[in-house]
Amino acid sequence: MNLRIRSGGHDFEGLSYVSYINFVLLDMSNLRSINVNIEEETATVQVGAILGELYYKIWEKSKVHAFPAGVCPTVGIGGHISGGGYGVLMRKYGLTVDNVIDATIVDVKGRVLNRTSMGEDLFWAIRGGGGASFGVILAYKLKLVRVPDIVTVFRVSKTLGQNATDIVHRMQYVTDKIDRDLFIRLNLNLDNTTNTMEATFTAFFLGDSERLVSLMNIGFPELDIQKPDCKEMSWLKSVLFWWSNVNESVETLLERSSLPGNSKLKSDYLQNLISRDGIESLWQKMVELKVVGLAFNPYGGRMSEIGDSETPFPHRKGNIFKIQYIVLWDEDGAKAEEYYMNQIRVLHEFMTPFVSKDPRGAYQNYRDLDIGTSVVGNNSYIDGKVYGEKYFKGNFDRLVKVKRMVDGDNFFTHEQMFSERGGEVGGGNDNGGGKRRDVQQERKRGNLLGSRPTEEAARGELGREVVAVCGGVGVSASVKHDEEDGDDEHGEAQGGLVRRQRLT
Ligand SMILES: Cc1cc2nc3c(=O)[nH]c(=O)nc-3n(C[C@H](O)[C@H](O)[C@H](O)COP(=O)(O)OP(=O)(O)OC[C@H]3O[C@@H](n4cnc5c(N)ncnc54)[C@H](O)[C@@H]3O)c2cc1C
Repeated sequence: MNLRIRSGGHDFEGLSYVSYINFVLLDMSNLRSINVNIEEETATVQVGAILGELYYKIWEKSKVHAFPAGVCPTVGIGGHISGGGYGVLMRKYGLTVDNVIDATIVDVKGRVLNRTSMGEDLFWAIRGGGGASFGVILAYKLKLVRVPDIVTVFRVSKTLGQNATDIVHRMQYVTDKIDRDLFIRLNLNLDNTTNTMEATFTAFFLGDSERLVSLMNIGFPELDIQKPDCKEMSWLKSVLFWWSNVNESVETLLERSSLPGNSKLKSDYLQNLISRDGIESLWQKMVELKVVGLAFNPYGGRMSEIGDSETPFPHRKGNIFKIQYIVLWDEDGAKAEEYYMNQIRVLHEFMTPFVSKDPRGAYQNYRDLDIGTSVVGNNSYIDGKVYGEKYFKGNFDRLVKVKRMVDGDNFFTHEQMFSERGGEVGGGNDNGGGKRRDVQQERKRGNLLGSRPTEEAARGELGREVVAVCGGVGVSASVKHDEEDGDDEHGEAQGGLVRRQRLT
């Protein structure tokens, strides 16, 4: 029997709630208390809370404290923190995992452990290595960071006629070197009305508009940012600006939601400048493909000061941007899925000469089954290394060792797990005889069990309450067991997770 642990249900491949084998779904969404301690500048947050709730609760207590995490308020704490976590405060304060000071986990023996009792290896692993391979995380203790009471944002778009090519080219020289108070994301999309490319620059700045304009004029004058382009607001309002509409009430950040529609995401890291010719060839390709968008998130600042092995997340110094590929679609059915999946894969392939190599990097929180899968068996170490080195580079072997230490019999498994079996890290005594499964193919054939979280589940209103799922601990969870022959939900398993709008 396989266990799937779901906190916010935002895994891009749905690994927290679909599988090709029978499973128990451990739904953590009711476990969501948040305790903010401003004197200590900490917050203890249970995994079923969403980022919006965390931000809101911090803001209730202090207007000058925040936490560096994702821009999407509906993402769950459990998956987000265990998988890395980046957002607009990343250049100033690093990733979410760089600001975690303790955790509570239920291990395979049902023991409830904190940082001291779990030990530094496991504590290291669940800050970026993903939680689902190591145990059931119940809560994280976080170090809050300081923000000014006024921050500034802007969003401006440039077409090719407005010099987008030169501006994008120039941006690569400054984006990771400019003042770390500033984070500028670049989105590239096809403008459907003109059938040409549009570049959108969205900024978050830890300061007022005057200082921002002066910084931009010195560091990145090509974008020509003036005071009227800028909006000053509280940090919490800036979360709404980045996510949706700044005019909405901040209480909307408390709303949990599931993710309608279909999507596929992929990721890359840019370490070398793309030439002007390269950018023009990218425009051509994106116009040809039409449906795939790219988002470039700037690195540098604090990200360059943290060593590659301090946490399992290794993509630090030397990166200019993390690139996110996004394709969204509404149509149902395998044909549509094949079409859109193919588009994003073609663009990913096209980008090969420009992006990181040996290994080509990927971000584990942008789960991508295209880069490999494995099951428990003789080849699980070798298979795992294929995706593991992309997500974790040199940290992969340490994750495998921690896995052996805390869950050597592989109770906690999923399609991108860690296992020593068949590998050099130790072990090699496996009789599991596992056969590699192509999860994408299984998905296509409708062989996956489980379904997306319903609206009720997303709001934490799942029916059957059970207590003591995790080794006698008072975990309140909803458990669901899908039968082998499936049910109506089979069809929904296709396509993975999704939100039609505002995928960021
Ligand atoms: C709309 C959208 C926007 C996003 N924006 C950002 C962003 O700005 N920055 C960023 O870094 N990422 C972003 N992401 C990616 C997001 O961080 C990951 O998908 C994250 O893993 C989601 O966490 P979750 O708890 O919601 O998901 P889940 O699907 O519940 O879990 C994801 C994985 O973590 C495991 N897991 C969950 N809870 C636990 C637990 N308690 N113990 C052990 N294992 C657990 C699951 O089994 C699964 O493998 C975004 C995703 C979406 C869909």
